[in-house]
Amino acid sequence: MRHQQIIETQQKGEKEQPQGILVPLDLPNFKILRQSQQGDGSLEVHVIATKDQEICPACQSISEKIHDTRRRVKRDIALRTYQVRLVLYTRRFRCTTCRRTFTEAENVCGKYKRTTKRFRLYLAQQASARPITQVAEQEEVGPRFVQDCLIAQGEEKLAQVGRTLDETAPLPTPRFLGIDEFARRKGHCYDTILCDLVSRTVLEVSEGRKLEDVQKLLGRLSNPNTVEAVSMDMSASFRPAVQLALPQAAIVVDHFHVIQHVMKAFRKIVSSWAHKKEGVILLHRKQHLFLRAKEDLTEEQAQERVMIGARLPELEEAWQLKEALRFWYAHATVETAATELDRWIQQVQESGFASLQKALSAFVKWRKEILAFFQFRISNGFVEGKNNRTKALMRQGYGYRNRQHLRLRILSGNAS
Ligand SMILES: [Zn+2]
Repeated sequence: MRHQQIIETQQKGEKEQPQGILVPLDLPNFKILRQSQQGDGSLEVHVIATKDQEICPACQSISEKIHDTRRRVKRDIALRTYQVRLVLYTRRFRCTTCRRTFTEAENVCGKYKRTTKRFRLYLAQQASARPITQVAEQEEVGPRFVQDCLIAQGEEKLAQVGRTLDETAPLPTPRFLGIDEFARRKGHCYDTILCDLVSRTVLEVSEGRKLEDVQKLLGRLSNPNTVEAVSMDMSASFRPAVQLALPQAAIVVDHFHVIQHVMKAFRKIVSSWAHKKEGVILLHRKQHLFLRAKEDLTEEQAQERVMIGARLPELEEAWQLKEALRFWYAHATVETAATELDRWIQQVQESGFASLQKALSAFVKWRKEILAFFQFRISNGFVEGKNNRTKALMRQGYGYRNRQHLRLRILSGNAS
């Protein structure tokens, strides 16, 4: 419950004061004693706990006897454009039973902290979307402090799911895994991202993508024998590592990549017809009619495509082959997939399309993994979504060239 207090601002000198600022204190169990604007424009809000008794930590008896009250200044989240300093009055009680004095418990800041928890959380949230140095500058705190807040928040989020930031700690083992790679520095610095496709979370972002790097990563799975399938794309070099580390798991090639692979070959055919004299006018600004998925065309577009296809029968044939593969993915079953794929491969071989025939090598190299899709029906879409987010972070230069920062961001981004 959000509770707000209207604060009468105190006139101090001739300085113009914000009148009656509504302070969204939002600190349950605290009340505002007073508020004043400081010379530097910041607001100072004096608060004290509303409770008038506390349990003695030594003997558990309830004490109401206040020994003394101390003032502690804590940095809090800003109120509109005003920087806020919370002046927290913490009381020491004297226990009437065991005579000890003790300080009242407080969960606004935490022990020995000079900032409120919510300010630290705010900094962490800011730092997850912007460079640390920028956040530090704007909030007038040290960059190291912002980084610590980010780490603390990441650790807390991971702790909620029973995990830590330790890069050697065991990883939970889902039935379905997704694995992919991304370049931290184009060309020479690759990392591996491992995802739980069941709970849709990132399990780890680990350094390197070589066989031994990936084996080490998969070796951290707490229960490797229970992995049923691992999704990856055909460009990835993960297959040997998965075969070694998880010999019982099936490897599934992402179906989207297989279609992309064939689309790349098909696009060459369309573009070559658009440059031939028979096709140059017919296909002018019309290539998309052939490239787009059949079911995404409007009735009008579909008719237009049929009309162009009738005049360019070879292109029509290539289009039929492209669509046949898509149809196969959408309709084949575990029982029919292999036979139907073989029929499609044969049709491509019998056709005169060199680029499509060249694309067939992937179906030889990855046949088992392509067919495994029909058994498990998993894809790498989630992993790639995370990967794109990662790349976007790096492009915007968020200071995440630092691998640990990037890892922290991705792992703590699980919940969001
Ligand atoms: Zn006591």
